[in-house]
Amino acid sequence: MEKTNILKKEDTTIESLLRPSSWQDYVGQEKNKANLKIILEAAKKRHEACDHLLFYGQAGLGKTTLAYLVAKELGTGIKVTSGPALEKMGDLAAVLTNLEKYDVLFIDEAHRLNKMIEEVLYPAMESRKLHLIVGKGPAARMLSLDLPPFTLVAATTRADLLSGPLRSRFGASFKLDYYEIPDIEVIINRSAKLLKLKISPEAVKIVANASRFTPRVANRLLKRVRDYAEVNSLDLIDAKTARQTLDMMDIDELGLEPHDRRLLDIIIKKFHGGPVGVNTLAAALSDEKGNIEDIYEPYLMRLGLLSRTSTGRMVTEAAYNHLGIKPPEATLL
Ligand code: ADP
Repeated sequence: MEKTNILKKEDTTIESLLRPSSWQDYVGQEKNKANLKIILEAAKKRHEACDHLLFYGQAGLGKTTLAYLVAKELGTGIKVTSGPALEKMGDLAAVLTNLEKYDVLFIDEAHRLNKMIEEVLYPAMESRKLHLIVGKGPAARMLSLDLPPFTLVAATTRADLLSGPLRSRFGASFKLDYYEIPDIEVIINRSAKLLKLKISPEAVKIVANASRFTPRVANRLLKRVRDYAEVNSLDLIDAKTARQTLDMMDIDELGLEPHDRRLLDIIIKKFHGGPVGVNTLAAALSDEKGNIEDIYEPYLMRLGLLSRTSTGRMVTEAAYNHLGIKPPEATLL
């Protein structure tokens, strides 16, 4: 128990050590950064709260980091919460009434906000009013409180699950995409420096290629490689060390984990390569539909191993090749 706590604490410390705190250290996403800077600059010039902002994209691509950078650039405080944490009206009221002038309110996992909370959020976003129902039955009355100007920054992995009315209340939305490998290499090198690790360029490449084009995964793999080097008293992390660590974690050279390979394998062996619907696939994998849609599928599609058609998911010839299975002649994409 004690050990887990120590590990957790160390991981959180490393996480905050590696989180970029300047635009310069925030690698890639150039177009988003440029557009965002214009919006922030304009708000600063007008001495007004910045428009509400929406960041969406896969987990670990830098949405939270960007929210902190927004607050830093605006020179304001930031209050952090998440969709699932705001269960009751009182939870949101407590957060909103705690805001100071021009603060950033960051709501992570915004697609998990419930309807009731969203209804309270609309007037708060639009006219800085908090409408509360006090009391019950015939004695119930509406209380209206003024809120300070603030900027809501919401992050979500599933913009498609946000309700239309909520989405329309953001002044700007930013889609964060997977990173290019050279950008991931820059991130790994920066993290290695911060962690005081010696790592060869070949090892950086191996880790980058297995990172699912995602900064958080790249940092996570680097930490595991560091553990391996430490346990084996190695001063330099070279290609062999990187490969051995990934092998031990059952991560292949494309960054596929066992669940990714199992998904492809099941589509091939059980469903003759597809198409297969996501619900059927989830049942066959004994996994959640959400995991397939949010985590496995986007990466497999990005690699060109899987495609989504109107009738369901299908594997591509590249998937057969990657798993070393001979593709059938007729059904290939
Ligand atoms: P998200 O909120 O999208 O899940 P985070 O902002 O928490 O992702 O990012 C996870 C980690 O990945 C950060 O702590 C940081 O170390 C790293 N990271 C994310 N984006 C970048 C970036 N653009 N440049 C450098 N490191 C990044």
